[in-house]
This record gives sequence, C-alpha cells and structure tokens, in this order.
Amino acid sequence: MTGRNIGNRKRVAVGGIRYEANSFSAIECPETVFEEQFIRRGRAVLAAAPANSEFFGARSVFEAASDVEVVGLLDTYPGCGSPVPHGAYERLRNEFVSLLRDAQPVNGVLLSLHGAMATDEEDDVEADLIRAVRAIVGHEVPLIVSMDLHAAVSESTASMLDGLIGFKTCPHTDYEETGRRSAELLLDAVRGASSPAVFLEPVAMITAAEAHDTNTGPLSSHMNHAQSLVDGSSVLDVSIFAAQPWLDAERTRWTVTVTYDRAECGGQARARSIARTVATDLNADIGSFRVRKTAVGDIWQSVLAFTAGPVLVADSGDSPSAGADGHSLDCLSRLIGEGLPTVLATMTHPELSIAASHSPTGAWMNGEPLAPSVEVIAAASGRFERRYPAGPVDVGSCAVVRVHNATVVITERPAMMLDTSLFDHVGLDPANFAVVQVKSAGGFRAHWTSISDRIVIVDSLGGSSSRLTELPFHKISRSSWPFSERQTVQSGELP
Ligand SMILES: [Zn+2]
Repeated sequence: MTGRNIGNRKRVAVGGIRYEANSFSAIECPETVFEEQFIRRGRAVLAAAPANSEFFGARSVFEAASDVEVVGLLDTYPGCGSPVPHGAYERLRNEFVSLLRDAQPVNGVLLSLHGAMATDEEDDVEADLIRAVRAIVGHEVPLIVSMDLHAAVSESTASMLDGLIGFKTCPHTDYEETGRRSAELLLDAVRGASSPAVFLEPVAMITAAEAHDTNTGPLSSHMNHAQSLVDGSSVLDVSIFAAQPWLDAERTRWTVTVTYDRAECGGQARARSIARTVATDLNADIGSFRVRKTAVGDIWQSVLAFTAGPVLVADSGDSPSAGADGHSLDCLSRLIGEGLPTVLATMTHPELSIAASHSPTGAWMNGEPLAPSVEVIAAASGRFERRYPAGPVDVGSCAVVRVHNATVVITERPAMMLDTSLFDHVGLDPANFAVVQVKSAGGFRAHWTSISDRIVIVDSLGGSSSRLTELPFHKISRSSWPFSERQTVQSGELP
C-alpha cells in the first residue's frame, strides 16, 4: 500500500525495537526480556521518550512541523545480553507489524534500531523487522532508520532503506542529535524535498571496542573526515559503523554508509566514491586500532602509579553494556585483600544477590564465589532509573556486601556501568573509594571521567574480551581482520 496525504498533512509512523546481542554471554536471555515496563506504545513513544534518546530528539522536530501527524507504534530498549529467544522477538514484531497495519495509510516511517540484535534463530533481526515493515508500507514510502555506532549493517538492511543515520560519537553522546537528524531527513523525504537512498560499503575489519572512542582514538580523525564530506544536498549523511565485535554473525564487520539524494545529479556516484574512500582509509589504518591494556597480574602496579584516587579499573572483558554477564572475577579477585586500598565494585550473581538481600544487615554469610564469607551491608530494590543510556532498569535482587577492603554491589542480573546510577541507587559515592572497578570497555568514559580521569584498562577475560581471535566464533567471516591473518600478539597489545 502506498501512503496518501491526509489533506495537506503527512502521517508518519515511528517506533523501534532495540537490543544489543552478545553471542558469548553465558546468561540466557529470559523469555520476559521485553517486559511491559520497558515498552512505550502509541503517543508515549514520543511523549514519554527519555531525555538523551533518539525519540526525544525526533520529538522536537515533529512538534515544530505543523503539517505532520505522528503515529506512535511501540518502542523498547531492554539493553543487551545473549541473543533474544526467538519467540519473544516474534511476538513483539507481530505486535509492531499489527500496529503499523492499523496505522495505514502513512507517508513515511521512522525506526530507531540498535543494529546488532540477534535471536537464537535469526542473526539479522534488523533486516527481518525492516522486511516486515516494507511488506506493509511498500517500497515507495520513505523509511528512515537510526542505528547505534556499533551496528553490524547487512547489505540487505541497507538495500531496503531510504536513509540510515548512525551515531557519530563513542561513548555515545549524540542520541538526541541522531534522532533529530533522522526525523528531519524523513520529513524532507515525505514532503518531496529530497529523494534519499543508501549506499553501503563493507570494511573487512572487526576491532576491540576500546578502539572505537571518537574523542581520543584513531576513529576520531576518520569520523571527522567523514562528516566533512556531508554537503546537505547530494550527500545527506556519512556514517561509520564500528560493529560491536561480540556478535557471532556473518554480517559482523565495519561498514560505511552514505545516505544521498538520488534526485541530485551524480548523487549516487558521489555516494559510492565517498563510501569507498572512507572504507579504504579505515582499512589502511588498521594497525592504529590495536589497543594496549594492563595485564590482570599488573593491576596494582598500575593503580599505585597514581598518587590519588579514585582510580577507575576498567574490567573491559566483562562489560554488561557490551552484553557480557558481569560475573567474572578475573579482575575483581585481584583487587580484594586485607590491608589493600578501598575498592568499590559490582558483580552479577543471582544466588548470592538473592541470599544477601534476604539477610539482615551486619550478618556474615557464605560469599562464594566472591569470598568464603562476606558481611551484608545493605539490600536494595533492583529497580531504578539509569541516566546513561537513559531509561528504567531492573537488575533483580540487589545487595551490598563487604569483604576486606572491597565493597561490592551484587545484582541478580547484569548491570550496565556506563554511569554511576547503580552506586547512586544504593547510596554509595565512588569518590570515597581509592579504586572503583567499572565493568565497561570504553563507554564509561562519557560519564565517569567527571569522577576521575585516572584509568587502568585491564585485559580481563569474559564475554567482551578484546582477544577476538581467541573467542569461539563460528559464523563470522574469516576474511575480516584480525581473522584474515592471525597476528603475533605481543604482551598487552591486542587486535
Ligand atoms: Zn554502541
């Protein structure tokens, strides 16, 4: 069905299903992953969009457009972890599709997706969802999608879109800006002011997430150059997608996409040329994307090199914001000891968090596998509001325990540590500790550097390990670096 104008007004449908899958997470994603509390429907898709989100940014554009009627479908972002049970996704997709069918006719569609979602049956969920949307709206209605910088964009996804706008920052601080630009692109398209299309160029590389920082890392110069090529007429957007490296799927590798105006003379040729140039430059610079880390055995040596705290010890291999479980003790076990400086840390452990949260304050209990015994300091609800990424959180049972020098917040489910929300929630101030273990690979820098810029990145093991060639990949393309040529890895230097 092709969209029709409703008088002079344009009807656009908006919605999204976002999730970041990590194939190496040992904790199974629950059937209830898309809990009601994480879903906004209808008007709430925009009206209740959290600040610092794509739809919060898109809302301001739609509110300023007097000729546009917005139909909210549904939007959800329950976070990340192991691939979603297919049935749970299918139920939500069917509801999404049904809402879109009911909303017909529409003149345009705006989707906010992550770009690295998988189920236990489907490796390319974004393509599946977009295909379902196209089946309803047809191929003439403009369809614009925004995605995370860590999206693994497949050719089939790009071929179905009129526009694809990725985050330009890592750590991601341009959620709203991305939403605004996506909404503006959609409105231009539905008003006939542009006729956008997407060109995709794959880059045969997969890299550790620590190398994706657009403030300090090698990606910054490539991203700046890419943005300088946007001219607002034939070239509407240039996005670099540094695929999150722990999604074991054929589509996982970097990509460059150019959204161009096909109505502009030479638009497609220019898009192709830009995408290939940016991709070639990235590939030529591959050596710069290696990262240096501190070996777990050298943590204290690195920490004590700083004269003041708190020192942030980044447990990069076990990052819940990268979908890892957050239960690895590879890093934390080295931080605990009698007489050592004070440490604040987190850990996922269902049994321990439940037992501790049911124990009286001050009680000593079996703390295995953390320690033979731990003192219970406090229990707390697992529900709170996270500032970054913004939205409601439920980590299940939650308790604070102490052992020797360490105060540890134990949660039933993995807790993202990209900001201090969890510590704030349980009443702990990181500034009061000499060392804070942060289970994150690099995304924590956006908020944590206001607490401290003294950072030790640890080469720890877990579901978000940087030792990519040592992870049990089965489906990934071996033609992508570093799989294409096994590197001789020097101590502390990782591909
Ligand atoms: Zn990301």
